[in-house]
Amino acid sequence: MEIRNVVQSYSVNNGSYKAQGQNSFKFLSDDCSKKDVVDISQKKDKKLNKNVIVTSGLAIVGTALCAATKGRLNIFKHAAKSAEFINAKSVKEAVTYGKKDLKIQRYENYDLANLDMINTLNEMLHKEKSLTGEIPQVIRFLKRGELPVTAPMGYKLEPEINKRVLFVNTDTFNRFDEVIKDAFVERGKGTGLSNFISISNGKYVLSDLSYKSNTMDKFIEKLNAFNPNSSFKDKMELYQGIANAKSFANAGKIGLKDCKMQDFAYDDIFVHEMGHMHHQLIYPKYQEAGSQMSQIRIDFASDTAKLQIPYRVSSYAASSPLEFVAEVYTGLRKGQHFDNEVMSLYRRYNGPIVN
Ligand SMILES: [Zn+2]
Repeated sequence: MEIRNVVQSYSVNNGSYKAQGQNSFKFLSDDCSKKDVVDISQKKDKKLNKNVIVTSGLAIVGTALCAATKGRLNIFKHAAKSAEFINAKSVKEAVTYGKKDLKIQRYENYDLANLDMINTLNEMLHKEKSLTGEIPQVIRFLKRGELPVTAPMGYKLEPEINKRVLFVNTDTFNRFDEVIKDAFVERGKGTGLSNFISISNGKYVLSDLSYKSNTMDKFIEKLNAFNPNSSFKDKMELYQGIANAKSFANAGKIGLKDCKMQDFAYDDIFVHEMGHMHHQLIYPKYQEAGSQMSQIRIDFASDTAKLQIPYRVSSYAASSPLEFVAEVYTGLRKGQHFDNEVMSLYRRYNGPIVN
């Protein structure tokens, strides 16, 4: 099914996905004839005592509501042309707009959000809704201590209320200096940014020129431009830049060739979460794929050779089939091209096909 009023579209061309300038999206799905509510537990966060999926940092529990019917599913079928987004003048006005126009059922703890944050969220939700027809039903703002500061956003389908919930960790944006500080810490196999970025005369500079690229220059520029009053968009963009830079460094460290520092945008985190939501809606094995000990998960990471494929997307994509799908989905939405092996793996896990 074709949707005309969306932003981008892609077609298969020699195995890679190519932006067409035409606007259509298609989601393919396996058989999914029954409504199926299941628990997802990918990672146990002991401190929080919750099951969470960490997404570029964030984290979520979940359940899958299989809304698909037999055969093909196009989740974009409800997409409709909508009015241009206009920023609200107060948090209260933004909440009213979201409820009335976006049909968000609840904004929880919105007193934690400032106007810039809630307007930006509404803007992204508005775009997602006109593009796909599907957005979360609940927006929940989290305060300090509910999630690590390095986890900015997350998605889950909450079993108790059977609603799609988007989490926004206000602590991440209130204490963004902590996020930057954390990025320079090396952990295990992962590579901290201090391996190739240093501080000279109070400015971040590239200390290893083999990392140089236009995107890396842009990233360092954003890093230097950060200040506590930076906008929500600026912080989200920088967060994604950090994630991409670390991923790039990590890929180099494990000897992966053909990697490059990927471009980053302010809405990448949000689109990644929406990738989880769309995936969950069409993939009957979503729960299984997220479970640490499942066969799907074991097969995904059974050997280093296999992991080279998701690593070509990002190091985060190599952490689980669900993160792989969400990462590829984010790339496809941006018009990024992936090779045959990546797309074949994406289809194997019922990744929402942008067509
Ligand atoms: Zn994720």
